[in-house]
Amino acid sequence: MSDDITYNRAFDLVPGQAVEVAPDVRAVVANNPGPFTYKGTVSYIIGRGKVAILDPGPDDETHIAALLDAVRGETVTDIFVTHTHRDHSPAVPRVKAATGATVYAEGPHRLARPVHIGEAGRLDASADLEFSPDVALADGSVVSGNGWTIEAITTPGHTANHMAYALKEADLIFSGDHVMAWSTSIVAPPDGAMSDYMASLAKLASRSEPVYLPGHGGAVRDAPRFVQSYIRHRQGREASILHRLEKGAADIPTLVRAIYIGLDPRLIGAASLSVLAHLEDLVARGLVSTEGAPSIGGTYRLTEVPLPAA
Ligand SMILES: [Zn+2]
Repeated sequence: MSDDITYNRAFDLVPGQAVEVAPDVRAVVANNPGPFTYKGTVSYIIGRGKVAILDPGPDDETHIAALLDAVRGETVTDIFVTHTHRDHSPAVPRVKAATGATVYAEGPHRLARPVHIGEAGRLDASADLEFSPDVALADGSVVSGNGWTIEAITTPGHTANHMAYALKEADLIFSGDHVMAWSTSIVAPPDGAMSDYMASLAKLASRSEPVYLPGHGGAVRDAPRFVQSYIRHRQGREASILHRLEKGAADIPTLVRAIYIGLDPRLIGAASLSVLAHLEDLVARGLVSTEGAPSIGGTYRLTEVPLPAA
């Protein structure tokens, strides 16, 4: 299908160097590039003198050293975490040990739904199950530091505990992996849930901050409009799934082949999970049926709507 999102893949950070990307916001990229992480995880330093670090990143000695080097002579008072995937939170214990900062997040890692047989191994590989914040933030919580004010915005979907953070002074949002300029977000059950994800997009679309600083890649500009294009993109994908099912029942590999033309083979697994996420949502809404709980191996068909009584 045609892609309706105008991506911006510009990115000029190099690992190890802190660069100011917004007023009193510095970014340091980790050297963990890949098909899901783009050029690497971006950690942010908020403020000057007494600072906060947002998403310390993977447990990578070089990245942690670069981050601590960038704040040499300053005090790190607070650490914020957007979500508990292994490219975002595992550096927390070492950064906390070096700084004594207080750690904030929505909560420990948790699933969007119970695990089906065969799903557990994949989850251990991607999630940081060790993480636990010092302070669990509720939606709308505000944390103030020296010259900065952070508002917590719960944005489940990519993970159940995903949190975006608005920085009031700069009128921007740290959007984590929920909204990124270079790519769509991954919504992969059982970590992620499409119905939550769409609700979280609608929540951000109603806000006015024009700039988002994401967990990967460069800034999102004209953010409310970009979020609308993200919403339309998912609606389009859902329409493609329904369109294919109009031709008859199908399994997930069949749907992926029909919908993702020219897909990078490394992303087939992620695309399959994304389709599963849509199907879970469609089954919950009664539009699609399958045998038992929606699963990666299931066969899906349009729900037959009973004819209105004569
Ligand atoms: Zn990430």
